[in-house]
Amino acid sequence: MTPPPVYAPVPLKPRKLKLATVSLAGCFGCHMSFLDIDERLLTLLELVEFDRSPLTDIKTIGRCDIGLIEGGLCNAENVHVLREFRANCKTLIAIGACAINGGLPAQRNQRDVGQLLRDVYCAHTGTLAGSQVPNDPELPLPLNQVHPIHEVVHVDYFLPGCPPSADAIWSFLNDLLTGVTPQLGHKLMHYD
Ligand code: SF4
Repeated sequence: MTPPPVYAPVPLKPRKLKLATVSLAGCFGCHMSFLDIDERLLTLLELVEFDRSPLTDIKTIGRCDIGLIEGGLCNAENVHVLREFRANCKTLIAIGACAINGGLPAQRNQRDVGQLLRDVYCAHTGTLAGSQVPNDPELPLPLNQVHPIHEVVHVDYFLPGCPPSADAIWSFLNDLLTGVTPQLGHKLMHYD
């Protein structure tokens, strides 16, 4: 009887990790700082595949290894999206001051949100006289206060800065992707 053929083992390609990012009540500055890793983005793309992100056209998040959250929570949609990220990401990271403590947008917490909206939208004079606060049901309702994301979901890591520098983001992701607990050195840690 002819012995069965012996096939050479096919080496398994390591799976790329899935990375999702989002800007909630953020200014996209943290995403811009992320892009400031410049040519290192090509190295990153060998290790990760982007899922939902402002950098892709994917509308809903799938199962992901890492979720980067920029921005705090200022409206109902932010809360909904954050919960979707938490439900789908193994590791969730608050990136930047807004996600960590509300950031500058949280200065509105000193004021009544209804009065703020009236101050901004209700003009009494000029060509916009008689304008009203937008009330289309398509628009997400603002929250009374701006909240950091850890007040709503568990957060695995916090990456401070407004924004964190590209070097800090790169160092952080490198540690995470190589299975090391991320630790920013003193030089990469700042809050402004
Ligand atoms: S932390 Fe700073 S750079 Fe990042 S989203 Fe907030 S305001 Fe923008």
